[in-house]
Amino acid sequence: MREGGKGGLGDKRRFFGFIAAIIAIGFGGSSLLAFFAARGAVRATIEGESLPAAADSIYAQIRTELVKPVFASSMMAHDTFLHDWSASGESDLGAIENYLGEIVRRNGALTAFFVSERTKRYYYADGVLKTVREDEERDAWYYRVRGMKQDYELNVDIDMAHRDMLTIFVNYRVIDRRGRFVGAAGIGISASTLRDMILRYRSELSTSIYFVDSKGKIVAGAPYGREAAPPAALGSDPMLDMPAEKALATHGGSFRYAHAGETVLTRALWLPELSWFVFVEKAEGGSVALARKALYLNIALCALVLLLVLAASALTINRFQSRLEQSASHDPLTGALNRLSFGAMAEHEIKAARRSGGGVSAVIFDIDDFKRVNDELGHPAGDAVLVRVTESAARAIRSSDMLCRWGGEEFLALLPDCDLEAAALIAEKIRASVLAGTSVDCPCPVSVSAGVASIDTAAIRAGEPEPASIFGELVDRADRALLEAKRSGKDRTATA
Ligand code: GH3
Ligand code: MG
Ligand code: MG
Repeated sequence: MREGGKGGLGDKRRFFGFIAAIIAIGFGGSSLLAFFAARGAVRATIEGESLPAAADSIYAQIRTELVKPVFASSMMAHDTFLHDWSASGESDLGAIENYLGEIVRRNGALTAFFVSERTKRYYYADGVLKTVREDEERDAWYYRVRGMKQDYELNVDIDMAHRDMLTIFVNYRVIDRRGRFVGAAGIGISASTLRDMILRYRSELSTSIYFVDSKGKIVAGAPYGREAAPPAALGSDPMLDMPAEKALATHGGSFRYAHAGETVLTRALWLPELSWFVFVEKAEGGSVALARKALYLNIALCALVLLLVLAASALTINRFQSRLEQSASHDPLTGALNRLSFGAMAEHEIKAARRSGGGVSAVIFDIDDFKRVNDELGHPAGDAVLVRVTESAARAIRSSDMLCRWGGEEFLALLPDCDLEAAALIAEKIRASVLAGTSVDCPCPVSVSAGVASIDTAAIRAGEPEPASIFGELVDRADRALLEAKRSGKDRTATA
């Protein structure tokens, strides 16, 4: 026996969409907010505290580091030996060599030098290195120092005398008693302090520091996630994806950029003594990664909850819907199809039969002397009999057949693909089944009378005049047969 169809699909979809949207917005929104808050806090700490503190500390260290060499150079510039030696014609080379060698030893410097304004000779601990020339680019520093107003400058340069090592020079102006410019003297110290600092920050604070000159080139260290450049390559590492341009334009500040899928927070501080920027960098890293993990977990949880809620609502809705459909299309007492839904399904079935050209039959059966059951055993007993009759009849027909409670104690079965002869056999089967079914565990055994009718849809197609409603016609004929069965003594089948 077949059931009715389903409906309201669009409404259901809209309902599920609504629930999904509420959960996604609620859950997802709060997860996102939590994530952004956590990330904001991490950024604020790094950008507002860690990086500025590191940059300031580096600046302070560098200044401390430079105090000694600046002082030593100042002593040289004011040393009467140097003044006298220069005034006496620079003849005793051994004396200046000893003097400069001593300065180097005492200060642990890389080199000590004196460039004479009179002869333009560049003296160092091993003698005369060269003669400086105005048109030589490497000597430009001397002419700059000669013309400058302040007493000294710091110059980070490559030391020719020491296999071109990166060196910080203190270039001090030497002025004699009469205020004349005698030359430049000073010492050069290794920039290894910077390298040590770079390595220490990297290992202890997982903070990258590197130095960038005023033209935007990295001179020492390496940005976050990149290898430290080897000493020989210092100064030749062009800034690629760095915010150096911005730093140059704004003279330092805080910046962010992406590297290898990470957000790197950067602080650039201008070091006027060196005419360099120090860049201090930290990736958002750990805490944000944790917050991001929590976000993904939340989203997964949200998806799970969403799935469960949708499944639970689908289950509930489907159950209610099928209950509603059941009560709209079925008889509440017996569970058989009611007249309304049966009519529509029967019309549909007959149309299908007409397309395929098969026969359709109907069996109407009515309980014999049912009034007496009610009268003698009571209405509830009558109801129980009706239920048992329905069950028994349903067992006697095929699953593709349809059974309907047509009236009070009258039932109608529609049998597709079935001719009159076969339908009569099924009617007999129904009668036998009802008799057997109501004979055990039932208020009383009852018999039914049945009327059978059949319609050959192939004949209609072949040109037979078509009745107004094939279904109506079929029921009419079966009804007349039923009347015939009743008249001729009940408990039997009559065919139209
Ligand atoms: P016949 O053999 O000629 O069919 O006689 P009958 O007594 O079965 O026919 P009749 O039409 O005189 O009586 C039908 C009875 O069925 C009358 C009515 O009270 C009873 N009936 C109809 N619907 C229900 C129902 O839902 N429950 C019960 N218990 N009785 C019902
Ligand atoms: Mg009856
Ligand atoms: Mg009746």
